[in-house]
Amino acid sequence: MSKIQLNNVSLDYIDDTNVFHALDNLNFSVKEGEFVSIIGASGCGKSTTLGILSGLRNPTSGNLLIDGKKSIGTGKNRGVVFQHYSLFPWMTSKKNVSFGIKQLRDDLCQREIDEMANGYLKKVGLEGFENKYPYQLSGGMQQRVAIARTLAMQPEILLMDEPFGAVDAKNKIILQDLLLELLQKDEDRKTIVFVTHDVDEAILLSDRVLFMNNKKIVEEILIDFERPRQRTKIFNTAEYSELRQKIMGLFYQVVKENIGGDEVVI
Ligand code: ADP
Ligand code: MG
Repeated sequence: MSKIQLNNVSLDYIDDTNVFHALDNLNFSVKEGEFVSIIGASGCGKSTTLGILSGLRNPTSGNLLIDGKKSIGTGKNRGVVFQHYSLFPWMTSKKNVSFGIKQLRDDLCQREIDEMANGYLKKVGLEGFENKYPYQLSGGMQQRVAIARTLAMQPEILLMDEPFGAVDAKNKIILQDLLLELLQKDEDRKTIVFVTHDVDEAILLSDRVLFMNNKKIVEEILIDFERPRQRTKIFNTAEYSELRQKIMGLFYQVVKENIGGDEVVI
């Protein structure tokens, strides 16, 4: 049985005067423990799809199944990390993480919650920064706090919407490696749906890449590099170049369609 399944999901954004058809009959599933990326050009419907998976949005038609059961609305089994760090600015790192834990664990006392928060901050490399406020941290560090907060809530499914899209190139590498390393450990292994428009990131992290264009998934690409993965080991392989070319080719196709000519060269 799939961990996540979308059946014929369509979504219309409706306001007073307009209906905008944003997802058109999406069908895909994700296995337990699988890392699936959704990649595609801006505006193709990636965040809307993640909104459906998180339960923050409900489909206009079709349905979302989790563990084979129809799912409506949000739930403790899913955690979301957005591109913008969404931390509470008036809370320290530790408070931001413990706030998340408190929502779900009324069996723990404050000391246990604090210990757990510190443990997750350590996992993401933020030991020593427990009492800093978000404004005292770099963008990359703030995103680590957001990841720690989500992991500390121990969701079975992790949904990430361009989580490294706003950090600089160096921190992006550090965060990708951190994610690879964290997920290699059994206790933190999750089912993950990860939205990105970065081809290298998608190949490095994923078991499978879903290419989305114009409200639909149009292609599925399997990435079967063995784990644990190291970027330096896979980047120079012929298999990597082929995968990269294939996905870049899909992006070229989108550009050509949008401009409407064969003359486009990137
Ligand atoms: P992506 O994440 O791939 O960039 P989105 O899922 O955010 O794309 O958006 C898909 C389409 O839906 C876009 O054309 C966007 O303008 C439109 N859209 C997104 N959110 C809303 C909204 N709240 N109301 C109306 N249209 C929206
Ligand atoms: Mg988006």
